[in-house]
Amino acid sequence: MKKIALLGSTGSIGTQTLEIVREQKDLTVVALAAGKNVNLLETQIREFHPKTAVLWEEKDAADLRERVRDLSVNVLSGMDGLLEIAVMPESEILVTAIVGMLGIRPTIAAIKAGKTIALANKETLVTAGHIIMPLAKEHHAPILPVDSEHSAIFQSLNGERKNTIHKILLTASGGPFRGKKRKDLNNIRVEDALRHPNWSMGPKITIDSATMVNKGLEVMEAKWLFDVKLDQVQVVVHPQSVIHSMVEYEDGAVIAQLGTPDMRLPIQYALYYPKRRSLSGKRLDFFQLASLTFEEPDFETFSGLGLAFSAMEQGGNIPTAYNAANEKAVSLFLDGQISFLQIPEIIQACMEHCVYEKNPDVGKILETEAEVYAFIESRW
Ligand code: NDP
Repeated sequence: MKKIALLGSTGSIGTQTLEIVREQKDLTVVALAAGKNVNLLETQIREFHPKTAVLWEEKDAADLRERVRDLSVNVLSGMDGLLEIAVMPESEILVTAIVGMLGIRPTIAAIKAGKTIALANKETLVTAGHIIMPLAKEHHAPILPVDSEHSAIFQSLNGERKNTIHKILLTASGGPFRGKKRKDLNNIRVEDALRHPNWSMGPKITIDSATMVNKGLEVMEAKWLFDVKLDQVQVVVHPQSVIHSMVEYEDGAVIAQLGTPDMRLPIQYALYYPKRRSLSGKRLDFFQLASLTFEEPDFETFSGLGLAFSAMEQGGNIPTAYNAANEKAVSLFLDGQISFLQIPEIIQACMEHCVYEKNPDVGKILETEAEVYAFIESRW
């Protein structure tokens, strides 16, 4: 039995992780954590019987504690609860499927405790990659990517670790507004931006796909995970989302991973690595694939993508400013308070306003986040 602790169990990645647990019979869930979805977490506790469960607010945790009094589950709250789950002696793998920078501290704690990390929470590497990657090396804690593109790159590196990577080709669907120009994006409604052509995901990452900020975050994530230079990461728009990403080696050979757009595959790959397991669902049928096409990204219309390269080039706490600004801007957009095109404008303004810190520790990263939030609140 493989024992997993799951942060963000009620979200898109979290529920798909639990689908795999349900399908495979040799995974067991020792801990579950969610934000505020008491009802779903209660249902999950009744089905998966974790030893520990966490909700963010103590009042929600108290409510849940009362509801599951008939079960022997320890219900905790807040960051202390997340940190306790991260280092639980009973767990082998920590699946980090919460949104935002909240993932940094539990990930660090789990690495120090020698856990394997199945990493979905990209914000952790974007903002604290300079802390996480050396720490994981020091503690021999494997970081296994869950993001489909990074899983594809990881799979394309199998057996090739000693060979020189020439380029990472990070594919992007282009989102719902591919082919549009800035003038076409003036009056985008929330429901338009939430309509992703290929993937079904949580609301925040769906908006990030529409602005291509998600690809920007993935560029930064790839740089840290695969230890390459920024100019070795190339974004390739591939609208069909069949090729999940590729690696070009120094001899010009390109190795890619293909599949249907189903997040359960990279999640399951991380849970069982290096083994593969059977997985239900649709398979690629090459006779049904009309064509696979590729385009250059439109950096002018989707300026958030170029800003990510710039943030990573500057390094220090600027990627944190980029990420925090985007998180806040997306939530303002989802609340109908700003327009779609204001999202990258806000990111740029926050990057310019941020006081540069070359080597931020976790405290400084969180401080930068708070400063960015305060700046946005004062202006928008
Ligand atoms: P969702 O918004 O669907 O889910 C987020 C999860 O985090 C929920 O379980 C939520 O709980 C929980 N959460 C939120 N706040 C807290 C908190 N304060 N304490 C504990 N838990 C909290 O997000 P996704 O599943 O889409 O994404 C999760 C991460 O994975 C993100 O970093 C995303 O970038 C990354 N990712 C997602 C992909 C996808 O296909 N969805 C693909 C690749 C990466 P609650 O519901 O109770 O609020």
